[in-house]
Amino acid sequence: MKTIDTNRRNFMKKASSSLIAAAAGSSLALSAIKAHAAQSAVTQTKQTQSATTPQKALQMLKEGNARFVQGKMTQRDLMQQAKATGSGQFPFAAIVSCMDSRASAELIFDQGIGDIFSARIAGNFVDDEILGSLEFACAAAGAKLILVLGHTECGAIKGACDDVVLGSLTQTLSNIKPAVAAVPGFEPDRSSKNDQFVQAVADKNVVLTVERIRERSPILRGMANKGQIGLGGAMYDVHSGKVTFI
Ligand SMILES: [Zn+2]
Repeated sequence: MKTIDTNRRNFMKKASSSLIAAAAGSSLALSAIKAHAAQSAVTQTKQTQSATTPQKALQMLKEGNARFVQGKMTQRDLMQQAKATGSGQFPFAAIVSCMDSRASAELIFDQGIGDIFSARIAGNFVDDEILGSLEFACAAAGAKLILVLGHTECGAIKGACDDVVLGSLTQTLSNIKPAVAAVPGFEPDRSSKNDQFVQAVADKNVVLTVERIRERSPILRGMANKGQIGLGGAMYDVHSGKVTFI
């Protein structure tokens, strides 16, 4: 009798643990579905940031641009996000893009408050200051991806192609000159009037900027080599709204 009782108790114990496990499983599945449905509207936290891989961060940007192109942007309560991030930020990516009024990274990737670091400078190149900012974003603040984003019809690229001289802009454009020099051909018109040449320089500028980040920042190079961050380039089409990842 004692044996039977014990067996029965064990059975009941096992059965109830299974039920608990099943219930926990379905509740996990449900939260996974909910999380997936509202993924981009979630304000980034330490937990969401640390759970994000470089690949996932890239995927989040791709999905955000797809929503932007389709006109299906996530509805956000930006003020609620401001309050939620007021005491700490945990962005998943850092984007270097042009200051161009049409190339706002937050808008074209459909991101909210606290989602991405955004470094903007005419011609989306990196100098020591931008590199330092990116090191802060990744090594100190935990971002998982650096994306260098160029764009079509870029005035800074056109200015560099035409050797524009204008106050401090001359120095700014000198950072883009290596890309101009690295694009062969297109004779006799290597000026801003040649759209294909301008785009070839814009493409090369993104590639060289990614390389420059690797070369000039041992910190970021080390993180990229260890797979702690992703590092890539992309081109934004100001006509279609579409981002093409390189
Ligand atoms: Zn531009």
